[in-house]
Amino acid sequence: MSHALETRRRRTFAIISHPDAGKTTLTEKLLLFSGAIQIAGSVKARKASRHATSDWMEIEKQRGISVASSVMQMVYRDHVINLLDTPGHKDFSEDTYRVLTAVDSALMVIDAANGVETQTRRLIEVCRQRDTPIITFVNKMDREVRDPLDILDEVERELGMPCVPMTWPVGQGKRFGGIINLRTKAMTVFHAGSEKRPEDFETISLSERDKLIARFGDAFLAAEESMELAVGASPTWDHEAFLAAKQTPVFFGSGVNNFGVIEVLDALVDMAPSPRPRTSTAVVNRQVQEQTIQPEDSTFAGVVFKVQANMDANHRDRIAFVRVASGKYVPGMKLKVQRTAKELRPTSVVTFLSQRREAVDEAYAGDIIGFTTHGGVQLGDTITDGANLQFTGLPFFAPEMFMTVVLKNPLRTKQLQQGLAQLGEEGAIQVFKPDAGGNMLLGAVGQLQFEVVQHRLKTEYDCDIRLEGCQYTGARWITADTPQQLREFENAYPLRMAHDAADALAYLCTSPYDVRLAQERFPKIHFHPLREHA
Ligand code: GDP
Repeated sequence: MSHALETRRRRTFAIISHPDAGKTTLTEKLLLFSGAIQIAGSVKARKASRHATSDWMEIEKQRGISVASSVMQMVYRDHVINLLDTPGHKDFSEDTYRVLTAVDSALMVIDAANGVETQTRRLIEVCRQRDTPIITFVNKMDREVRDPLDILDEVERELGMPCVPMTWPVGQGKRFGGIINLRTKAMTVFHAGSEKRPEDFETISLSERDKLIARFGDAFLAAEESMELAVGASPTWDHEAFLAAKQTPVFFGSGVNNFGVIEVLDALVDMAPSPRPRTSTAVVNRQVQEQTIQPEDSTFAGVVFKVQANMDANHRDRIAFVRVASGKYVPGMKLKVQRTAKELRPTSVVTFLSQRREAVDEAYAGDIIGFTTHGGVQLGDTITDGANLQFTGLPFFAPEMFMTVVLKNPLRTKQLQQGLAQLGEEGAIQVFKPDAGGNMLLGAVGQLQFEVVQHRLKTEYDCDIRLEGCQYTGARWITADTPQQLREFENAYPLRMAHDAADALAYLCTSPYDVRLAQERFPKIHFHPLREHA
């Protein structure tokens, strides 16, 4: 198969939802129907209690689980589909944002009883910023849920883009009769239970209206009416508009009952985009230039969007998850980390199948490969076969909580520094070194991040630390148009300046007013709530 064809048959998407909406269940059914797994229950078992407690064991388990099942590849209708899971716990939302930079589309799962929930809303914001096309799946139609028109209305409002229904539910809860496929003009009849395969469901053409009315009665008539309203109120399906994140196709179903799922899998093949071009920068004649890298370009290039320390604390090896952006990866290839210009010497290179990791034979744009290394790779790194380019766009968010690190045994200072540097590179936490000296600061978006770091410093680096509260409540990364302006600002706030793990300058604040006042005083300084790896 030609390079272009290999690229074109790939689909890389993230599945996003609020906890309990049915993401794990749907993931499992997608794997099942593509033949990637034989029996249901295996993804579920590994999920354990994903959004459980702050118990250490749970966190450790979670880390193991997320290594095992965060990337899954399947083949369906001759397409290679890469599914990226997003962490369920809100305290790890930073990871989720970064995962979203590695995909070309997103599948949003909504609980039909609850509509768009808080965590989904935050994820939507990120997708919107990046114009990521979104496919919507409204789950749990076998329950007593909200009116589908109501749900569409809410999705439209939250997404800020019109919905185009692709299937439409007939009844719900105990009277859930099935879904009408608006393209094929046929109704698929619902049956509860998780043994059925997609082809086992009965379908009845809409032309047999009398039969449908006789069988489903008022539920069918009501569905006809609401479907007409929904179709009347939504634009016609426009594939280009979907790709530009200007409309979302909506599917209804019940994941746990295998129902309405194959329609989603087909949509991933038929509608979701193949790998898209990515923006990078390159230094040419000492000038930074923007470049667009096409997936078919022959240069191998990829970006590290996630770094995960291995479970084996003795080895200190880590897996760098790389989203291939262009070219073809083959084993033995010589690769370079752009930031350091050093050769990447992985101990193994793996691909992520649904239940196991395997050595990679070849990988193309859209694929995710894992490089196991002993270091030298950090989040946001660009890896190429020699080409001079650096991808942009991997976000770091300004932390909203801060803690001061106090080392219990001062003789372990070196280990602490090493540990914090590595955990910072992994993106587990943000580490700030105050310019004025003193203890290191940890910045997080979620409380659990602190607990993970404290625990890992002890188990992996033998550093006992105490975390103490501090006055800071926020940070902004600082840039200025001239070095002079920057100096003046630094001189005005010497005790507020710090450098993060990537050596970027930040201003620490104690209230939102701080930023406003500083901004008023220094109108030419730029305060960034988000830092992009560059
Ligand atoms: P996640 O937290 O989003 O991954 O959600 P899960 O897939 O673990 O599902 C949460 C709960 O909802 C589980 O108890 C599932 O069995 C249940 N569930 C998932 N899909 C459906 C569905 O279509 N109908 C009903 N009634 N329950 C469902």
